[in-house]
Amino acid sequence: MEVQCPTCSAKFVVPDTISVTTCPYCGTTFEVESKEKVGEHFFFPPIGKDPAGLLLKFISREYGAPADIVDARVKEKVLHYVPVHFFYIHGNLIGSTAEEVILIGIPAVKKFKELLRNYPFPVRGKRFFDESIVKKGKYYEPEISREEAEKEAISKVVAAIKQEARDSGDWFSEEKLDLDVHYQGLVHYPIWEVHYEYGSEEFYGFVDGADGRIIEAKYPMTSEARKKAGVLGGGVLAAGIVAGIIFAAAGGFWGFLGGFIPGLAGAIPILFKSAHRIQTTGQIRRVYEHIHFKP
Ligand SMILES: [Zn+2]
Repeated sequence: MEVQCPTCSAKFVVPDTISVTTCPYCGTTFEVESKEKVGEHFFFPPIGKDPAGLLLKFISREYGAPADIVDARVKEKVLHYVPVHFFYIHGNLIGSTAEEVILIGIPAVKKFKELLRNYPFPVRGKRFFDESIVKKGKYYEPEISREEAEKEAISKVVAAIKQEARDSGDWFSEEKLDLDVHYQGLVHYPIWEVHYEYGSEEFYGFVDGADGRIIEAKYPMTSEARKKAGVLGGGVLAAGIVAGIIFAAAGGFWGFLGGFIPGLAGAIPILFKSAHRIQTTGQIRRVYEHIHFKP
């Protein structure tokens, strides 16, 4: 049967036998029959895969990673259940096309704030909270209240709307702001912390326990890969200088810059990579990354 979400009005199909469902667009959990919201405390069940295996396999495909890193010794695996406040926010600027619709999660533990900043949490898959998970991992009580988290979520959405308005040349003012905020509950979210040893050195990584994505991982780059990157970066830089000299013949100093700057811009990331033996990687594309927040 088709149901309509009481929060975001999206229509979707659920099996006839089901009595409670979660909207795949905004994360509202509600009774199909009465449309009433149910539950304020949830958790995401961890997937059955070994996080260390996922982590090392991912690292082994990264640029410059040692070929035998998949065989690194796993020293420690910890499953953290991190509390996250969720909000569904619809905001728009009256008289403008600037609009934001987002399900946003604000981590409620300071220790994980940076790791999970603007994290793209999945909408689907949460379950009603179950006491038994407390014993299955490291469980945290929220340190940040729902009210504080709500303020933070709203400020992010407002910053995004401001940016959009600016991009389309519209005037932003607080009075024209129309915000619709729904609290979607506290979710205990599984995050794996993995420590491994390679060449008698210790490295770590974080793996999303709900879907297996690599959030952040450290690995050593081989010296051959660093040398290669150094040579490549130097080559790109040299090509920029040559292009600069050729352009300088026609355009003087500005011509030189016109040729040199693209070369420099291309060389910097490559040289930066070659300069660091320990690399940081991951496969998360964070939301709102293009916005610079003011404290
Ligand atoms: Zn919805």
